[in-house]
Amino acid sequence: MATKQMCDSWDRADSLAEFRDRFILPDGVIYLDGNSLGPVPKTTPGRVANMIEQEGGAHLIGGWLADGWMEKPLILGDRVAKLIGAGPGEVAVVDTTSINLFKLLAAALRLRPERRIILSNHENFPTDLYMAQGLSAWLDQGHELRLVDESQIEAAIGDDVAVVMLTQTNFKTGRVLDMAAITEAAHRAGALTLWDLAHSAGAFPVALNTAKADFAVGCSYKYLNAGPGGPAFLFVAERHQALAEQPLTGWLGHENPFAFETSYRPAVGIRRHVCSSPGVLGLVAFEAALEIFEAADINDLRAKSNALCDLFITLVEERCGDFGFELLSPRQAGLVEPLLRGSQVSFAHPEGYAIIQALIRRGVIGDFRDPHVLRFGFAPLYLRYGDVYDAVDQLRQVMDGREWDDHSLKERAAVT
Ligand SMILES: *Cc1c(COP(=O)(O)O)cnc(C)c1O
Repeated sequence: MATKQMCDSWDRADSLAEFRDRFILPDGVIYLDGNSLGPVPKTTPGRVANMIEQEGGAHLIGGWLADGWMEKPLILGDRVAKLIGAGPGEVAVVDTTSINLFKLLAAALRLRPERRIILSNHENFPTDLYMAQGLSAWLDQGHELRLVDESQIEAAIGDDVAVVMLTQTNFKTGRVLDMAAITEAAHRAGALTLWDLAHSAGAFPVALNTAKADFAVGCSYKYLNAGPGGPAFLFVAERHQALAEQPLTGWLGHENPFAFETSYRPAVGIRRHVCSSPGVLGLVAFEAALEIFEAADINDLRAKSNALCDLFITLVEERCGDFGFELLSPRQAGLVEPLLRGSQVSFAHPEGYAIIQALIRRGVIGDFRDPHVLRFGFAPLYLRYGDVYDAVDQLRQVMDGREWDDHSLKERAAVT
């Protein structure tokens, strides 16, 4: 059985321990929700203030060039590329995940004009499904979103499938899909792939080009710590860039925006997937977070994340085994491809919502997903082995004292 002393000694030996101090975290809180909204680095407020006061204050409109604001979507894109196994010129940091999904799904469907099926899974995150439904309705060409169970995806890729659209890491269970195998099956059937990396980027080394992925989107405010509403990113494999065109043909995706021509001509390369003026405040905040990821080795992050998740599972089963928690996440995580589990652990329990509320009251912040999923994210940059021990200790006290059995904890809030 793991003891607090053992956890403390692992923390003393941890090569990533120094990173914790780089984040803004409230005292007395164990934050197991960085998979939903990551904390921001301590450098973020200064960077944002500097952009407003120094860059903007001195240069005003000149900042677009003098401070490189205009080029940030592509410059940050190249930095994100390194975290997701993409090459230079294949990633742009723009818009939101949902909007990027819409843009790239439209681009991918156009590349398969004779096909009508978008294949996804029931377990996918709803916004992805909603965007696909919305796009299909607007196209009005008979496109259909076909949903299958996660375990049936490869078998369901027939020659009517235009695009296989999947979230790599299941947001409820943390299960990771085999991107390389599914992409290969899609290509064998003549289909394209569009991957959502929302719960993957920053959590483990993603290998888009090794898997020969076609398109991808992802999020900066979860494991990548850009802050609430941080800009999203998109990936278009270089081999598709000459032909792939997206529908939001704003001026900054134009070949020559400042010629102010009356007709749209798409820019060459990834730039055509930018639509509007860059949201510089969000980009500057994201830059502060990327510096941290560039100082750490993503493989070290993966190894520690696995160790934290494994420890949590072991301790919950040892110390809370009598309380009816059922492990929903894969027990095995994997260090090399194919990875099996992301950086989160989920348990099912019929009183899940109230248990999470009782934990939050004790300063252990996880979250809840319908119908009965307790979800805990383990971000290795700022979590300690001792935190995992303490979190399970608090859970044990919640269960021992039946603290969840309290009407005030059972009312659902608007954001869970
Ligand atoms: C969090 C998440 C999103 C978020 O989309 P927004 O457009 O940023 O609100 C999208 N897809 C998945 C799979 C997510 O987990």
